[in-house]
Amino acid sequence: MLSVTEAEKIILDLVKPFDSEVDSEILPLSQALNRILAEDIISAFDFPHWDNSAMDGYAFRHADLADLPELKLAIASQEIVAGANVKQVLSKGECMRIFTGGMLPDGADTVIMQEDTERVDDFLQIKAKPQRGEYVRRKGEFILAGARLVSAGIKIGAPEIGAIASASCQQVKVYRQPKIAIISTGNELVSLESSQPLQAGQIIDSNLYALSALISQAGAIAISLGAVGDDPQKLEMVIQQAIAQADLVISTGGVSVGDYDYIDRILAKLGAEVHGRSVAIKPGKPLTIANFDKVLYLGVAGNPVSAMVSFWRFIRGAIAKLNGANSIHWYPQFIQASTTEDIHSQGRRETYLWGVLTYAKGNPIFQPVPDPQSGYSSGNLISAIKTNAIAVMRVHQTYVPEGDQVLVMLI
Ligand code: AMP
Ligand code: MG
Repeated sequence: MLSVTEAEKIILDLVKPFDSEVDSEILPLSQALNRILAEDIISAFDFPHWDNSAMDGYAFRHADLADLPELKLAIASQEIVAGANVKQVLSKGECMRIFTGGMLPDGADTVIMQEDTERVDDFLQIKAKPQRGEYVRRKGEFILAGARLVSAGIKIGAPEIGAIASASCQQVKVYRQPKIAIISTGNELVSLESSQPLQAGQIIDSNLYALSALISQAGAIAISLGAVGDDPQKLEMVIQQAIAQADLVISTGGVSVGDYDYIDRILAKLGAEVHGRSVAIKPGKPLTIANFDKVLYLGVAGNPVSAMVSFWRFIRGAIAKLNGANSIHWYPQFIQASTTEDIHSQGRRETYLWGVLTYAKGNPIFQPVPDPQSGYSSGNLISAIKTNAIAVMRVHQTYVPEGDQVLVMLI
């Protein structure tokens, strides 16, 4: 049995990130939110493009104040608003009204904000001598033309969209979205789309829906290959279809001890290498890790919460790596939170206990499910409603009392 970190390493090592040439596409910037940038964006401009004012105030030459012990400057007739193309040159002993974003006139090097001045007729009384260069955003001080504005591998969010737009880029090269095939296995499963009412013994294939949602959230495209009965021949056929069209295959169910033999046989027959079958994690112990050349195969447990925990702990990061994202996206994020209830674990496997994370006066608070004794069943999907974080009890850690800090994985 692999430890959680061993399993994580094996999975990430098996993932070969997309090729930025072959596995990329050009998108209008407006459609690139949450996609992974496949090439560096080089700035076409200096930012700021020219010296400009960071305040509404008056622009002047700082050295002039040395000759003006009363700190009184003549106000030039011209005003500079943002967007104006300034031609006028500042004369000695003069200042010019300027507004935020306005171009500094030639000769000026400092801006005083209007609150620190008093206007007396055509003169400006400066109340306190400012530093040279104050409230001036200098040409190129944020970034120079030709420098890297945004790096490949960054997930494009609102700040990146804004920065790329400001550099006048209408299109960006991003990695294509990974295609993830989902195979649900089990004789008991019925499709949600079936027109027949459920018979005794049957359940809806809900994993397909939950996993599809997780896959979309991870920025990938889910491909459903439907529910397959526990039939080796059918399973072999469907796995074959999956590896032909997907970058990663997730199967759920059918990997308990008795099933290993036939799953392994199918995987081997189809040319896979199996790297692991179980992980010391609760829930989600059965985890088949295999690969067909570049296509990764992850067989997770059928229990609905197990399948989701396996996804959050291992699969989300694998998708991020596959998709060319920076390594910060390959691993879950953890914080410490204080628990509202006692938390128990058997301590044999790393234990993941779902719940709700809130903040009280800025401090993270973890609330386990209402009835931790019976609620933490991996088959109890209902208990996972409202889950937004998962407390993690390391191996040998058996108890965290109410009010103490517990490690929490963000999802
Ligand atoms: P298995 O991993 O096949 O032993 O399944 C473990 C439990 O998860 C059983 O109670 C299954 O009925 C249930 N299960 C398996 N696959 C699914 C699925 N796709 N959707 C909902 N529940 C499932
Ligand atoms: Mg089953």
